[in-house]
Amino acid sequence: MSRVYNFSAGPAVLPESVLQQASEQLLDWNGSGMSVMEMSHRGKEFVSIAQEAEADLRELMQIPDNYKVLFLQGGATAQFSLIPMNLLGDAGGKADYVNTGAWSKKAIAAAKKIADVNVVADAADSNYAHVPAFETWDTRADADYLHYTPNETIGGVEFGFIPETGDIPLVADMSSTILSRPIDVSRFGIIYAGAQKNIGPAGLTLVIIRDDLIRDPHPGIPDVFSYQVQAKAESMSNTPPTYGWYLAGLVFKWLKAKGGLAAMGEINRRKAQKLYQAIDDSAFYNNPVALDARSWMNIPFTLANADLDAEFLKQASAAGLTTLKGHRSVGGMRASIYNAMPEAGVDALISFMQDFEKNHG
Ligand SMILES: *Cc1c(COP(=O)(O)O)cnc(C)c1O
Repeated sequence: MSRVYNFSAGPAVLPESVLQQASEQLLDWNGSGMSVMEMSHRGKEFVSIAQEAEADLRELMQIPDNYKVLFLQGGATAQFSLIPMNLLGDAGGKADYVNTGAWSKKAIAAAKKIADVNVVADAADSNYAHVPAFETWDTRADADYLHYTPNETIGGVEFGFIPETGDIPLVADMSSTILSRPIDVSRFGIIYAGAQKNIGPAGLTLVIIRDDLIRDPHPGIPDVFSYQVQAKAESMSNTPPTYGWYLAGLVFKWLKAKGGLAAMGEINRRKAQKLYQAIDDSAFYNNPVALDARSWMNIPFTLANADLDAEFLKQASAAGLTTLKGHRSVGGMRASIYNAMPEAGVDALISFMQDFEKNHG
């Protein structure tokens, strides 16, 4: 067996020890004589797995008691519509959005079908390579919520601050940055994330929601997508994504063993800093993002000569460094270095980049 360093933006690398443990438990979980995949979601074994995963997540993120954690399906993309449907109910309402790139735009397009949407700030003038200063945002005092994307996975743009919205609930798509460092959950009304970047496998979506935001949703909403119904049913109004929930639980245990989110944050800061340093020290590589908005998780970069892109990717792949091709909308390269990417993987990428530059620069 030979595993590569997989820089995919998502689905993404998982901790090897988690995959190892899952494989050891694949046929027989804890003497139950069956795989987690084969268990009733209402049986005591799976209920214990589910509860332990939630308890570990609450401990890791220090989620206050007045927040519910929902384990749902549909991906972050479903949440783009479900947030306005759940928060605004029947009457519609006013939703403020910040546009910092590709995922913001999708969230805005989905919300426009349901809500009166106001884009409070748009980073178009830098081609989405910066975060507009908070003082410039054109927010509405009577908005029902404000939505933003703390980390733009495609552009590699990350907020260096949490917007201070006062009484207006702050809603954050944390798909590609959740669990990468400590955050103050109490600053948010809703945090949501698809699992396949920093949590576990695709198919599971986390929604962390403050109790007072669990309301009567839009009447047309499917029950499985109603926060109210799912909060009451402990995310089991229908069959939840049981195996993804279990694997997420193993990842939470792995994070705790690594020292929790403070320790993880230090590792992530170091990994990102050394890769940016290597890019900035070279005239051969370039990252276009403003210094105060550079993502710790997704690092896009271009080569001075784009004709070398294909050769770069080919040689990188031969060296065991895979999935470095940039998003089709951006081109160039992108290294996603989530929690589960070992520091040795980042070191290997940097050495490869330096060698490639020597040979082709
Ligand atoms: C990947 C991603 C999404 C889309 O997630 P799906 O699970 O595919 O719906 C949305 N927002 C951000 C920030 C992402 O990184």
